[in-house]
Amino acid sequence: MPDFNPTRDSSLKSWVESANQPGCDFPIQNLPFGVISDRSNPVPRIGVAIGDQVLDLAVLEQVEILLADGSRAIFNQPILNPFIALRQNAWRETRAKITALLRDDNPVLRDNTSLCRRALLPIAGVSLHMPIDVRGYTDFYSSKEHATNVGSIFRDPKNPLLPNWAEMPVAYNGRTSSIIVSGTPVRRPQGQLMPPNSVRPVFGPCRMLDFELETAFIVGEGNVLGEPISIDGAEKHIFGMVLLNDWSARDIQRWEYVPLGPFNGKTFATSISPWVITMEALEPFRVQGPTQNPQPLPYLQQTGRHSFDIHLEVKLKPDGTGESTTITRTNFRHIYWSMAQQLAHHTVSGCNTRAGDLMASGTISGPEPESFASLLELTWNGQKPLELLNGGQRGFLEDGDNVTMTGWCQGDGFRVGFGEASGVVLPARL
Ligand code: MN
Repeated sequence: MPDFNPTRDSSLKSWVESANQPGCDFPIQNLPFGVISDRSNPVPRIGVAIGDQVLDLAVLEQVEILLADGSRAIFNQPILNPFIALRQNAWRETRAKITALLRDDNPVLRDNTSLCRRALLPIAGVSLHMPIDVRGYTDFYSSKEHATNVGSIFRDPKNPLLPNWAEMPVAYNGRTSSIIVSGTPVRRPQGQLMPPNSVRPVFGPCRMLDFELETAFIVGEGNVLGEPISIDGAEKHIFGMVLLNDWSARDIQRWEYVPLGPFNGKTFATSISPWVITMEALEPFRVQGPTQNPQPLPYLQQTGRHSFDIHLEVKLKPDGTGESTTITRTNFRHIYWSMAQQLAHHTVSGCNTRAGDLMASGTISGPEPESFASLLELTWNGQKPLELLNGGQRGFLEDGDNVTMTGWCQGDGFRVGFGEASGVVLPARL
C-alpha cells in the first residue's frame, strides 16, 4: 500500500511556495481533484489544486509522468468518474505520485521549466467545471439539531423528532439535472404557495428562499443491484467530499412535502464546490461522532472514529457593494449518522450505487443558535431577522444576495481547505 501521508503536521512542504502559507486551502497535504479549462486549452480536463496553482494532470499523463491504471485516457477527461471508478488503490497510488512530484526535495517537475510552464496554471486563470457526472443524488437528514429545529418549526415543538429519526439515516432521492458548480447563479423559483388561513394555494415567486449548509460525499466504488454495502466495508467505497448548498424554497416545500417529501421546493438548484477533497486528505482529522442512543440495529453499528473535524461557515453578501457577513459557523462533527452508516443504509435494500453518486449530509446545524445552518433556523422561520454588517436585515434571501460556503480542517501549521460553494440569487422569471 503506498504511503498516502496521513499527517497532521506541516513538515511536508512543496516547491510551489504559495502552498506552504498557513492559511492556504490547498497545501501539499490536501491535493483535491477538479475539472479545469483555460484560454490556452478550452477542453475540460482533470487538475489538482496546489497553493494558488493547478497541476494539469492531462499534461502529466500525456508525457507519461503520471499514469493511472497504466492508461493515458484517465485524466484527459471532462469528468472525474473514470478515475474514481478505478477504486481506492488507484486513488491512493495517484495521490502518492502527485505528492512525490510536488515535494520540495523532488527536482523531476520542479527543475523542468518547460514542463512546469505547461502543467502548472494559476487557479485565478482557469475555469472550474462540474467535477463529476452525478447520476444519483441523495439528500440525508442526519443532523439531530437541524431535524429538531425543523420539526419544531414545521410541526410540533413538543415532539419535533419522528420515531424513525433515531433509528435510521432518513433521506430522500434528489434531482441530479439541477446540480450546479459553485459560481452558477440561482434563479428564484416559482410555485404553489399556501397563504396562512387560506383554503387554496396561490401561484407565484418563492418568498422564503433559503440555503442549507451541507457537505456531500462522492461514491467511488459502487455496488451491484441486490448486494448491499456492509457497514464495515463502507468507507472504502467513498472517494471524497465537497461542500453543498441545498437551496430550499421553504414556502413551496411546506405546502408540498406531505406525504412524499420535498419536490419543487428543492429541485430548482443544488450547488457544489468544484474541488473534491479525498478521504486520504481528511484521514488525519477523524473524530468520534455523537453518541448514538438508542444503539442502532446491527447493520448500522460502528465503533471507533467515523466522523471528521471540518469547520464550516456561510457568508452572505447583499447585491452591489455590500459587505459580507458571516452568518453561521458550525462543524461537520455534529452530524449524528456517519457517511458509512448512510451508505450502508442506502444499499441495505439492495439498491445499487455507482461511481460519482452524490450523497449529501443534510443541513449541518450545531447546538448553538449561531451554528444553525439555514435561515429557517437562524431567523426561526423569519420571525427573528438577522442583522447584516451593512445595516440590512434578512429573514430569507433577497434577489442579488450572494451565499458563499467555506470549510476547512485545521492542522498544525496548515489546513485542508474545501475552497468554496457560492451562488447569487437572480430574480424570478415572471
Ligand atoms: Mn437538505
